[in-house]
Amino acid sequence: MTTTDSEHWLRVKGRLRAEVGDDIFLSWFARMELERIEENTAHLSVPTRFLKSWILSHYTDRVIACWKAENADIQKIDVSVRSAVIRSALPKIKPVDTIEPPRGLRLDNGDVRTAFAPVSAGHDALGGSPLDLRLTFESFVIGRSNTLAHAAAKQVAVARRGDPVMFNPLYVHAGVGLGKTHLLQATTWAGNNGNERKVLYLTAEKFMYGFVSALRTQTALAFKEALRGIDVLVIDDLQFLQGKSTQAEFCHTINALIDAGRQVVIAADRPPTDLESLDDRVRSRLAGGLVVEMGPLGEELRLEILKFRVAAARQYHPTFDVPAPVLAYIAKSVTHNGRDLEGAVNRLLAHNKLTGQPVTMEMAEREVRDLIRPQEPKRVKIEDIQRIVARQYNVSRADLLSSRRTANVVRPRQVAMYLAKTLTLRSLPEIGRRFGGRDHTTVLHAVRKIEGLVGNDAMLADEIEILKRQLQD
Ligand code: ADP
Ligand code: MG
Repeated sequence: MTTTDSEHWLRVKGRLRAEVGDDIFLSWFARMELERIEENTAHLSVPTRFLKSWILSHYTDRVIACWKAENADIQKIDVSVRSAVIRSALPKIKPVDTIEPPRGLRLDNGDVRTAFAPVSAGHDALGGSPLDLRLTFESFVIGRSNTLAHAAAKQVAVARRGDPVMFNPLYVHAGVGLGKTHLLQATTWAGNNGNERKVLYLTAEKFMYGFVSALRTQTALAFKEALRGIDVLVIDDLQFLQGKSTQAEFCHTINALIDAGRQVVIAADRPPTDLESLDDRVRSRLAGGLVVEMGPLGEELRLEILKFRVAAARQYHPTFDVPAPVLAYIAKSVTHNGRDLEGAVNRLLAHNKLTGQPVTMEMAEREVRDLIRPQEPKRVKIEDIQRIVARQYNVSRADLLSSRRTANVVRPRQVAMYLAKTLTLRSLPEIGRRFGGRDHTTVLHAVRKIEGLVGNDAMLADEIEILKRQLQD
């Protein structure tokens, strides 16, 4: 490649950036490189297949136009995936044929060999959990519900060794299928890629069974060494961490890492205050960094995710096409979570491949029927619970919130707290606050009490069933 070519390329990038804006440029083009110019073609490369397909399907004309403006000879672009470069930049990539292709990406033609495959990122002795090559920042769609979490994760991923740590730990919580694992794995990929840091991704289960025992069998010195080698520890599904000694190890590890200025990133299905089995000190340490919630996926976000999924599938099945109205229909009706969206696309694809029939609205309606929730379960409010429980037991709402401890008030209050815990997503401390400023342990006690009683007391069980129905319809 000549100097003029690289100068042109610099200016082409400048043009692109000016045209599409910083956000889009950084998302799609920041890692695009010029490989060579051959006759009338600019050969470009990007690190992932997602990027390639996205750029080709959305920006081909733009990129060509920017090239033409710099070098009138260029008529075409060609985009390839820089698998070899990626391979050397990522730690410990195994030869691809010893590993399973990632879920849903099994290829007919063995093409996966040129892609990179799930690897254990991070320190050998500690052994990370496998990563899914599709879960990258490029494939993570940003919307209102996840902007902050995404920005924070990105910040962690691009930080360099020795940079001051801005928030520690970064704690992301969200319900099932809302993108926690995706975001954490993206952070791990990006963090390990090219900036010399070791980012270790572990599920809480892996932490329990592997990490802890690996650490235990080593000497104290090796233990410290191993920890020193990790710049960023990423732990997924922390709610599954169980067992006193594991938790003690976990606490020790987290403290050691944070004290040493290493970054810790955690995801769980609930906020730190609701991790009931962890002790107070751990919880407050976890809550002491940045705690971010990711909300439900909005319809626009769902539509973008679907488009992305279809674009990804088209790389391997170029004839697969989902008409826009069908995408809109799925985005509108398959509301639950990202996994269902993925499931919907997989079904359309399977149907299309197996029968050779094009995707139509009718086919889509049939295929995704059981992924559609008739309507979102109604959001139950704590005030409604208090009102309806008070009416049922013939006490006042003020009684429920008061400190009175007579039996005719205590039981309804416990029932109401129990319902608040089971029918809403509110945390124990918040429920405590909403019940006259009680402590979260009082709420926990009430919940356990009622749980214990309903097993043996059929009448109470019925009462609760009736209350639930009143609240939910
Ligand atoms: P969680 O770990 O929170 O249960 P996942 O990260 O496994 O959820 O996400 C479930 C599915 O939804 C995955 O296929 C994931 O790629 C997809 N998904 C969720 N959020 C997003 C997003 N913002 N952009 C793209 N895909 C998403
Ligand atoms: Mg997950």
